[in-house]
Amino acid sequence: MDTRMMETLDKGGVMKRNRKLLCVGLVAVLVLFCLVSPVDAWNSHGACTKLIISDQEWLKAYDMITVTPWTYQDVDTAAVGPNFVLQYIEGKPGTVTSAAAILTNYADEPDWKMDQDLNLSPFQVLTGGSQGWRHQYYGLGWLRLGVAPSRAQYFFDLAGKAKAKGDLYWTFRYLARAIHYVQDTTQPYHGAPAPAGLIFKGIGNFGALLASATNHHYNLEEYQSAMVARSSSVFVGALRNAAPLDIATVTSADWLCRHGAYLGRPEVRKLWPLETTFFGDSIDGKDSWLFDESTLHVADPGTVQAAYDQELSVSLDRMSSYTKTLLLLARQAYGL
Ligand SMILES: [Zn+2]
Repeated sequence: MDTRMMETLDKGGVMKRNRKLLCVGLVAVLVLFCLVSPVDAWNSHGACTKLIISDQEWLKAYDMITVTPWTYQDVDTAAVGPNFVLQYIEGKPGTVTSAAAILTNYADEPDWKMDQDLNLSPFQVLTGGSQGWRHQYYGLGWLRLGVAPSRAQYFFDLAGKAKAKGDLYWTFRYLARAIHYVQDTTQPYHGAPAPAGLIFKGIGNFGALLASATNHHYNLEEYQSAMVARSSSVFVGALRNAAPLDIATVTSADWLCRHGAYLGRPEVRKLWPLETTFFGDSIDGKDSWLFDESTLHVADPGTVQAAYDQELSVSLDRMSSYTKTLLLLARQAYGL
């Protein structure tokens, strides 16, 4: 719970007057975290990253990069999932590729079993396992669950080590991985599974709350992915045109993740009711439900769908802005 959520709860008098209810609420939220355990924030990081970097003119200077084998055993020592296989999308070492291709092709790599089936923390069960643990950053009062910020920083630092060796291929591949975790933390439902007020109200019928939280989460992700695939101008515009933050105030990849999750949590309160109105009551039901993608089209102006797109574009704008900021940090730190 961040300070804004605390304030909201305080206004309602819930937290001050009823500590018992708070305890029940905390347990409920933890169980909710546990059961709403998505492994991927935004679907298709690669497709979004391609749009995000379309204005990065500087990348064009890196259009002839030779694929190199992974030779970072001494510094890249974090555990990888037992079923993770290192892939070379553009071709085996020796093939020529570009920075733009590497960033686009490997923005999804952390979802390719890299973080699955690991034993990282006794608390990882609360985020749905080791992948959830590494890809999310839940906030609940003083409690933080997940290590997405440190994962982003880990790969950002490795990119620097690759650059120091003159290995541009792994510089950009490690940056692509860092981008993944930064983007993950900008998906609002990764910071809070449901609006805090609803969680407290829904304790009496916890199964229903849980089902609806899961529905909201997955429908948002499927919807944004489908709309990017349909080239919705609101979504494509947000991804393309977002401006980076001023790197005088941004200290690190870790900072970007923490800040992204912090700003995303209050968004949940706005997205949830719009989803109920747009998708219909089924999303709030106790059965798992997904909208019918075959009838989906780009929003007409003035509709509920258009309002939902507008709200969702706030988060997509942040996803883009934070990605671009990470690239600025890399350029500054590594002389790219
Ligand atoms: Zn992820």
